[in-house]
Amino acid sequence: MTLAVAQVAVPVPLPRLFDYSAAADQSLPPVGSRVLVPFGSRRLVGLVMAHADVEAAPNIKPIERLLEPALIDSSLLGLFAWCRRYYVCPPGEAISLLLPGALRRTKPFRRQAATALALTEQGRAADLSRAPRQAETIELLKQGPRERAELKAAGIGSDILRRMLAEGLIEAVDRPTVLAEQAGPNLNPEQRQAATAILRQRHRFAALLLAGITGSGKTEVYLRVARRLLARDRQVLILAPEIGLTPQLVRRIEKRLGCAATVYHSGLSEGERLEAWQRARDGRARVIVGTRSAVFLPLANPGLIVVDEEHDGSFKQQDGARYHGRDVAVLRAARLGIPIVLGSATPSLESLNNVEAGRYQLLTLSERAGGASLPRWQVLDSRGSDGILDQRLETAIEKHLEAGGQVLLYRNRRGYAPVLICNDCGWQADCRRCDAHMTWHQRPARLQCHHCGAEQRIPPRCPDCGSPRLAPLGAGTERLEGLLTERFPDVPVHRVDRDAMTGRADFENLLATVRTGQPCILVGTQMLAKGHHLPAVTLAAMLDVDQALFSADFRAPERLGQAVHQVAGRAGRAERPGQFLIQTRNPEHPLLAALLNDDYLGYASRLLVERQAARLPPAHTLALIRSEAHQAEPARQFLVAAARCLRHKNIEVAGPIPAIMTRRSGYWRFQLWLQSANRTFLVDHINQQIDNLHKLPNARRVRWHVDMDPAEL
Ligand SMILES: [Zn+2]
Ligand SMILES: [Zn+2]
Repeated sequence: MTLAVAQVAVPVPLPRLFDYSAAADQSLPPVGSRVLVPFGSRRLVGLVMAHADVEAAPNIKPIERLLEPALIDSSLLGLFAWCRRYYVCPPGEAISLLLPGALRRTKPFRRQAATALALTEQGRAADLSRAPRQAETIELLKQGPRERAELKAAGIGSDILRRMLAEGLIEAVDRPTVLAEQAGPNLNPEQRQAATAILRQRHRFAALLLAGITGSGKTEVYLRVARRLLARDRQVLILAPEIGLTPQLVRRIEKRLGCAATVYHSGLSEGERLEAWQRARDGRARVIVGTRSAVFLPLANPGLIVVDEEHDGSFKQQDGARYHGRDVAVLRAARLGIPIVLGSATPSLESLNNVEAGRYQLLTLSERAGGASLPRWQVLDSRGSDGILDQRLETAIEKHLEAGGQVLLYRNRRGYAPVLICNDCGWQADCRRCDAHMTWHQRPARLQCHHCGAEQRIPPRCPDCGSPRLAPLGAGTERLEGLLTERFPDVPVHRVDRDAMTGRADFENLLATVRTGQPCILVGTQMLAKGHHLPAVTLAAMLDVDQALFSADFRAPERLGQAVHQVAGRAGRAERPGQFLIQTRNPEHPLLAALLNDDYLGYASRLLVERQAARLPPAHTLALIRSEAHQAEPARQFLVAAARCLRHKNIEVAGPIPAIMTRRSGYWRFQLWLQSANRTFLVDHINQQIDNLHKLPNARRVRWHVDMDPAEL
């Protein structure tokens, strides 16, 4: 006897859907419905992915309750089905990708009341000169109502808002969607051409790569296009990297588009995320700005997707469903029949390869908007100096500060020093659980592993030889901050890294201070290098390229090129000409020569040729099977067996090989490389073999997963 069942995705890490029959006296809920189902001794929220007829069996239980019928539309379910297959993830990931947290719970979620706050007449007239935080809030609200989340992001605490509400200075309102629209700058001919080219495709799918050098005004191009689509009542979805999604960007978008933006990222509360999700789904959210997870937002009337800084690593999810937000966004646009714009000053080789293959259209912006010029580049050979701050670099810093400029120093290492070494026997402080040195931090004083988070106190003497002569080797941002403060006592030195900037508000406040234009020195990690507009910076310098020159990761030269151009691009953005310095002990390295002798696109096209010759991504498709365990042997043996399952004449199988960091957090890590010229074939083949992989003897003793298009090795 056959039975009609709903195939339901539930949030468990098992590689299958589960069958449920209809509840008594009811028909099966439609596909896309959110349901409550019994699962073992628990009840779970599930999504109906499909219907099927199966052999009746006593273990098939009925659905307990229908929560919402057809909540997720077929287009999103189809997108997920593709991701599930391509990224080889359990179907239960549908719950975390397609539903906001509040809808993953079994308990009903209470809708929140109005989340926006506006000034009252009383607030407008109030004298708050003795309450600076309240005065700041009033200033922000003078431009129009703001969501609580935005005020929080701007550093205004809920206690202040509560007090102001109680005093009648502000009130809760439904946020109006129309703001005063601000005209942007006039577009230059290149920008106009790019906008026209995008708009020509507005009725169909097209992927356009907008490659514009730093400062060329890519955002103004997106916004010009977005405005036209908004005027036709279409929604615009803008994806940005985690670090790049600042209130500053959101504000700029809102001003230009004359409409409130709905933001969607992991820093929001569950209630705020649900609200944003609902607004996107019913079309009230006209402009949505979010991080990679926003690519799965339901959209009532989509018209355009933009992926800003498309080369950024944060678009790739590193756990669970290991999807790439940019690539999924392209697929989504294709399924919706709308254009997508990928923007970057330093496009990924993946996107450039798609241009070469004719899949993406390339639009270039080769001039800086407003006539600003690119900085002069210069390499400082630091052999023979202590390698921390070169004398010539100090001189250059002094010169730029004296001329009233600001200075930006990039060093992608936080902490005081990357290594603590014994000057007598050469002992170094290493992490017990990782193949890594412990980083020396001074405030607070400790040794910390940046890979597993382990912390130790700093030993007073060398544990090996007993010598008290323990010394730092190299310099992280914390040590640089100290050195610069000593050397330039009259100028503020701001450190920008995860230790110094713990909240979004810290960074936002610092950027506001820096934009006043007073001379200062910024020293920081990649947080600093990402697209922030810092018009008074005239000198940018990069202090650590040497590690990247010798990295075992095949993506290292690409990332180096992107970092160098992004950091260089921070200098000289306004009328003042800029200077860019690279401090290195390897001035003759061919990669540096290639970087200096060409623009980014020329450099990238040479890297692409090398990747093609080596049959590496994006020329060939790469999938990794990763395996890790507390003992090395089971992790390795699992991959030996997996290699046997996966062997095929159309696929190159290499490994098991140790991961670049072979031990991390106490786990031994290995990988199997699967390379193929035929992407579809590789994906099909892995899917055909996945059940066999799950049946391998060590499959339950080790942690393992498939990573398609891996970003880290
Ligand atoms: Zn020693
Ligand atoms: Zn560690």
